Amino acid sequence: MQLLLMGPPGAGKGTQAAELVKKFSIPQISTGDMFRAAVKEGTELGKKAKACMEKGALVPDEVTIGIVRERLSKDDCAKGFILDGFPRTVEQADALTKILADLGMKLTRVLNIHVPAEDLIERAVGRRICKNCGATYHVKFNPPKNNSTCDNCGGELFQRADDNAETMKKRLSVYEDSTRPLIDYYKKIGIYTEIDGRQPIGKVTEDLIQILSSVKD
Ligand code: ADP
Ligand code: ADP
Ligand code: ZN
Repeated sequence: MQLLLMGPPGAGKGTQAAELVKKFSIPQISTGDMFRAAVKEGTELGKKAKACMEKGALVPDEVTIGIVRERLSKDDCAKGFILDGFPRTVEQADALTKILADLGMKLTRVLNIHVPAEDLIERAVGRRICKNCGATYHVKFNPPKNNSTCDNCGGELFQRADDNAETMKKRLSVYEDSTRPLIDYYKKIGIYTEIDGRQPIGKVTEDLIQILSSVKD
């Protein structure tokens, strides 16, 4: 299954991707996670991405497309994958079609997690992530059992530098301008499904699995 999880920042893509990874045993490919890892390691890629991410702007298409091409070419993607946070522009979507065609693949389904803009800032500002295993929590909607450590591994939780109200406003406006047009893009191809992302986390997962149970590879 070649899946694309779409949705505005804070919609729940990462949270749901983690569940689909467990259910279908295919890798999650998150460009945001890849950029954050590169920033932490201080690589050339990290240097290119850091300033854009801090501002809430997109990393340039040619950089982003390059890392996705490399990642999708790895053996573990041959049986399928879950793209999370890529593509975010029409240019990236066109590049993805081409990359997949070169690999003899195409997208099975585009799953758009719909959450209204007014909920998204609270979601992002309350997001906490485990430094060790990457598990995602929310101070109000999905709190860890033990105040400030990860339920899975006991790791310390941190807040992303760009998860503040000001940067989120910018990210939401970038989403409206550059990423929302992809909804029509994928509707036209006929592989688009929308999920109500305002429901509790477990219910969103159920809906996704229900949709995917009727999808043929
Ligand atoms: P994205 O990857 O789309 O940016 P995340 O999966 O990181 O989003 O979720 C953003 C924040 O919202 C996290 O703190 C997460 O725990 C929380 N969250 C995710 N799904 C829901 C939901 N259905 N209801 C309430 N909060 C949610
Ligand atoms: P969220 O889902 O909360 O928006 P991500 O972790 O997906 O967060 O992305 C964080 C940041 O990484 C984005 O604001 C952007 O700067 C950069 N980024 C991630 N994916 C892309 C992409 N496909 N194209 C350009 N920039 C990206
Ligand atoms: Zn952890």
